[in-house]
Amino acid sequence: NIYHDKDADISLVQNKTVSFIGYGNQGRAQALNLRDSGVKNIIIGNQQDDYAEQARKDGFENVVTITEAVAQGDILMLLIPDEDQQTVWNEQIRSCIKPNTTLVVASGYNVAFNLLDIPEDMDVVMVAPRMIGAGVRDRYVKKIPYPCFVSVEKDSSGQALKTCLSIASAIGATRGNGAVESSCREEAGIDLFAEQAIWPEIMVIMREAYNVLHEAGFSDEAILFDMYMSKEPAEIFERAATEGIVKQLKYHSRTSQYGQLSTMNKNDGKQIREKFQNILQKNILSGNFAQKWSNQKWAAEELPKEWKVVEEAPIVQAELRVQKLMKDFIKSE
Ligand code: NDP
Repeated sequence: NIYHDKDADISLVQNKTVSFIGYGNQGRAQALNLRDSGVKNIIIGNQQDDYAEQARKDGFENVVTITEAVAQGDILMLLIPDEDQQTVWNEQIRSCIKPNTTLVVASGYNVAFNLLDIPEDMDVVMVAPRMIGAGVRDRYVKKIPYPCFVSVEKDSSGQALKTCLSIASAIGATRGNGAVESSCREEAGIDLFAEQAIWPEIMVIMREAYNVLHEAGFSDEAILFDMYMSKEPAEIFERAATEGIVKQLKYHSRTSQYGQLSTMNKNDGKQIREKFQNILQKNILSGNFAQKWSNQKWAAEELPKEWKVVEEAPIVQAELRVQKLMKDFIKSE
């Protein structure tokens, strides 16, 4: 299902008190968009630091603690990093929520994996722009559409879809082609799958390609520029987005087209499909990853360890050498 401006009643959100929990990347953009869409009662919840200062500079008068913002809000926009949401929810949000409020999340993660203890009478919706905050603001101002996922996750009032669409339209997300109906499970599942299956596989390919070519005596400069430092892959992905991942091949030489197609067509993908299915089912959809990652102490220790391992990788060392040698070229690009 796709929802357009015509499906939304913007007056619903205009008549509510909207509390922002977090004034960062998404928080700032969405708060400014809502205000420009005629939402008068906006409260910004943040500790008194640079983010709060920014909110005041942007003309928001009601900049208070998260707890105070939550206590007043009919609609709670939960816009702090995903990995902090559970702790902040338990310590600063849960006990202050008014009756019959709506929680709005911009990513599916915490709802999909049941990390938040949601009150019985609360509605839960997702309005998830597929765009960084600066883009959400810039496109709103320029009246340009941008992609966004929406969903109703819990409908206690019977009005959750209306509230969801009202907010989506007030941040400019139902313009043009409209907002796409999805779900927290789908949004979080695909996001985590990209992070744990697709991109690591691409990085392993680059790492091993470098190792093989390096062992064969090719120079680091030639290998890395051919693989990605020339930014050719960026152009390929740009065309993949507009024309198709396979159809963009028509811009390559015939030799390249034959090499790519004949190799790909021979590969039935069975091995990688099994691996991907395992990651999706056993690690992601089972909630195993989310449970591990929401242990903040464990997470804080594990991430630096992974960085340490990768710093020693030959491809990373080669990049440092080549970046130094080709500094002017890389900068000028
Ligand atoms: P940011 O990192 O920009 O969030 C910063 C805000 O969160 C600040 O107000 C900061 O305040 C607050 N914050 C950070 N840590 C804590 C904490 N422990 N306790 C209380 N407040 C905290 O987040 P984003 O805007 O990037 O992400 C917000 C949500 O939007 C997430 O769910 C994300 O997945 C989603 N999203 C993000 C997109 C993006 O491009 N960034 C795109 C689409 C969705 P302070 O540090 O002062 O406490």
